Amino acid sequence: VLAGGGPGELFETSVYPRGQWGLHGAAFKAGLAAENLTEWQFGLASIGFRWNVSGTYMQAVPRIFSTDADGNDGRDFLSEYFPSASRLGTATFFKGYEWPFDVEKVTGCGSSLIDVLVHRERQKGRRVWLDYRRNCCAEFSVDALGPEPREYLRRAGATQATPIERLEHMNPLAVEIYAEHNIDLHSEPIEVAVCAQHNNGGFAVDAWWQSNVRGTFVIGEMAGTHGVRRPGGAALNAGQVGGLRAAKYIANVCGAEASEGTCNEQQLGEIIGGLQRHRESEGLEPGEVIRDIKRRMTEAAGHVHRLSIATKALGEAIQLYKSICRDGLRAADGKGLVDAVRAEQLALAGVGYLKAVVEYLEAGGGSRGSYMVLDDGGVEIHPELCDERTGKPLRFKQENEMMRNKILRMRFDAETPDFFRCEWIRPREVKMRKEAFETAWREFREGKIYRDGQ
Ligand SMILES: Cc1cc2nc3c(=O)[nH]c(=O)nc-3n(C[C@H](O)[C@H](O)[C@H](O)COP(=O)(O)OP(=O)(O)OC[C@H]3O[C@@H](n4cnc5c(N)ncnc54)[C@H](O)[C@@H]3O)c2cc1C
Repeated sequence: VLAGGGPGELFETSVYPRGQWGLHGAAFKAGLAAENLTEWQFGLASIGFRWNVSGTYMQAVPRIFSTDADGNDGRDFLSEYFPSASRLGTATFFKGYEWPFDVEKVTGCGSSLIDVLVHRERQKGRRVWLDYRRNCCAEFSVDALGPEPREYLRRAGATQATPIERLEHMNPLAVEIYAEHNIDLHSEPIEVAVCAQHNNGGFAVDAWWQSNVRGTFVIGEMAGTHGVRRPGGAALNAGQVGGLRAAKYIANVCGAEASEGTCNEQQLGEIIGGLQRHRESEGLEPGEVIRDIKRRMTEAAGHVHRLSIATKALGEAIQLYKSICRDGLRAADGKGLVDAVRAEQLALAGVGYLKAVVEYLEAGGGSRGSYMVLDDGGVEIHPELCDERTGKPLRFKQENEMMRNKILRMRFDAETPDFFRCEWIRPREVKMRKEAFETAWREFREGKIYRDGQ
């Protein structure tokens, strides 16, 4: 049963707990088919202490500003794009319960325009901060916000003068958790970025969470069951449901006896040989490789995609993986070996995830869920937000709804030029069954329900 969670370490900006390497490289190598790898959830999070700044963190309407790399030259960069303090404050408030980046909330100065602008600012080499000591601008007033935030804050009694007072009033635990990590929101801003927070795709499973490799089950975030627009809270439920169903199937069909733990000497030999190759290698240093993968993934497969950038990134990822297969990674000691194994696995996972993005975009896929596909012929994001290459307003491609009836399924294949075989399959139909209670109950009691995993 594979339950390694999402591969949070694939990204430079990530709100996963550190050390979430995942088991994706190993699962690809073992022949497991993956589905919907394009689908993630991205959102604003603090990056020192990793924590989503969703809900009350944004409903308290903090100031969002940027600085240079040294923390100087503070600028209220959002004000240039929002026509008034009221519109900026309202969008900031909505970022609370419209938390993950949502491409449908970008235009018209929607709340997800903030994610686009934060990302843009960071791409310029600047750092972005949330500051609870000050309002977003001098003209800010709760009374001047749009009707929904105004009423919400009034009803919550959160009409205090500063964001920290409003936050403390509505949700003191939100302030406390930063204090527990030695961050005092009363006296310092927190650095934020648009971070990877959940992988909605993953490995293909049937209704008993069994993968295409018989006897291997995938549960939790690693299973590709979460859909394009996973509702908040659904991941933990999905993990429990999948775990329970896999356990029932295993107990009822596979038998509950633990295996005798036979050792496949050929496989062990291959593993030891692979480690030895890293020990003797003059190749790349694993830490550098991991940094390189993260930077590439955040740039090309984060919440903003562009076909040309993703294609280039995929080419680089393939070259990197080939060089690791050919030359190994430099591992001076035991720790170096662990890093080398992680880097090798992550490199293969990176190829898989980038291949999915390129395949989807080449098939005509547009923006959906938590990512935006940039396209010169698409919808204008904001008249003042220009594409640096053309000097014209940046545009994105709308969702291609035809893709709703297709699932991208991929399998590792060392013989193909880019290591993955792809096919488009149709979503499984949910069968309509009109059976009498007695029949259905008998099937359940006699264990017949375990025969059809589809
Ligand atoms: C900041 C944040 C907030 C979230 N909030 C919510 C929420 O409010 N509601 C909700 O439903 N979901 C939420 N999620 C998503 C949810 O937490 C995850 O989807 C869920 O925890 C995944 O459970 P899991 O058991 O699949 O994996 P995990 O809980 O990630 O566990 C996987 C385990 O496997 C270990 N592991 C990984 N790789 C290896 C390896 N190679 N070898 C050995 N061990 C390994 C990891 O260290 C970890 O202990 C949130 C996620 C984040 C990051």
